[in-house]
Amino acid sequence: MRELIRAGAAAMGIALPADAPDKLVIYHEMLVETNRVMNLTRVPDDPAEAVDRNYLDSLAPLAAPQLTDGVKTLCDVGTGAGFPGLPVRIVEPSVRLTLLDAQNKRVEFLKEVCGDLGLTDVECVHGRAEEFAADHRESFDLVTSRAVANLRVLSELCLPLVKPGGYFLAMKSVDSDAELAEAQKAIQILGGDVEKAVDYAIPGTDVRHRLIFVKKIQKTDKKYPRTFAKIKKNPL
Ligand code: SAH
Repeated sequence: MRELIRAGAAAMGIALPADAPDKLVIYHEMLVETNRVMNLTRVPDDPAEAVDRNYLDSLAPLAAPQLTDGVKTLCDVGTGAGFPGLPVRIVEPSVRLTLLDAQNKRVEFLKEVCGDLGLTDVECVHGRAEEFAADHRESFDLVTSRAVANLRVLSELCLPLVKPGGYFLAMKSVDSDAELAEAQKAIQILGGDVEKAVDYAIPGTDVRHRLIFVKKIQKTDKKYPRTFAKIKKNPL
């Protein structure tokens, strides 16, 4: 697995610190182990596929200067078993990471992994993004989110957390054109602006995904985010 991680990251133009492959493998082993007794996430049986789907895919944002220029505060919303936030932090130790998820069993697992890997500064928070915003609005340079909700809904969960001038980075499939079009109005209401959408490939596979960069160009009105029931019932 270490070699697959090294080769894949190199092909994506991402420089790995020497200890990153070992840390990612320890993380993977803990995930496989814990997943046997509770459902954290789908883990492909084939280690090569797990490397592609979870670790290399999570590292894709690191090819973007929005993430690598200087020390950044990053919140990964709906991180689940830690994707993409934890692999990013393992590879980019200067990132100050908050992992946020609504399901406590996942957060407890992440605390254990961070403890074992010595990542003492990572905050693993059990909570819902729309409630977390009450105390943490406009406090992150970057907010990432993969496979959590439709972009229209997700924007209301994520954009209030982003500092003006920062980015919300949505990890989506390559056929998200309609989803993006439907979310434009919500993004604008929340103070965001879609700067660009960048498609990328996982090296050596036919997996193609998309990074949607939403820049926060103005503060989000205090009335957002609303409760999840309202967001869902009446998306912006
Ligand atoms: N990002 C991970 C997990 C995706 S599963 C990955 O790509 O593998 C979606 C996760 O989002 C679940 O763990 C769920 O608990 C969490 N979630 C859904 N809505 C949320 C919300 N409003 N606030 C925080 N977490 C949420």
